[in-house]
Amino acid sequence: MAYDPDNIFAKILNGDIPCDKVYEDEYVLAFNDIAPQAPVHVLVIPKGQYVSIDDFGANASEAEITGFYRAVAKISQDLGLVDLGFRSIANTGEHGGQEVPHFHMHILGGGPVGPMVCA
Ligand code: AMP
Repeated sequence: MAYDPDNIFAKILNGDIPCDKVYEDEYVLAFNDIAPQAPVHVLVIPKGQYVSIDDFGANASEAEITGFYRAVAKISQDLGLVDLGFRSIANTGEHGGQEVPHFHMHILGGGPVGPMVCA
């Protein structure tokens, strides 16, 4: 699937649409989900143009991949989620229920987040 430069997260990255920013560095932007599914629900997105986790893992540079996961670690630590735990999810494609075609990791926590997969 080709990257759509008009997707909503691309518009957040280029400043066309605002977001409730949680963290930003050279590699990622993290912001609160507009429709939170848990007391804490943050989305972490790479600044590069990657459609999905498989696109990111296959085509991003080692620096981008390292930067992304270091940021996930820092954000979860800074949000106080590490001791009691949290869930990280990357929905992918049609069967995965991915709505926005720019790779993003959901970080959900701040309380029990329920069963892993709801039918
Ligand atoms: P997914 O289904 O994994 O693609 O998740 C997309 C997520 O993006 C959903 O949880 C939406 O609530 C969230 N979302 C959509 N638009 C925005 C926005 N403008 N700001 C923050 N979160 C958004």
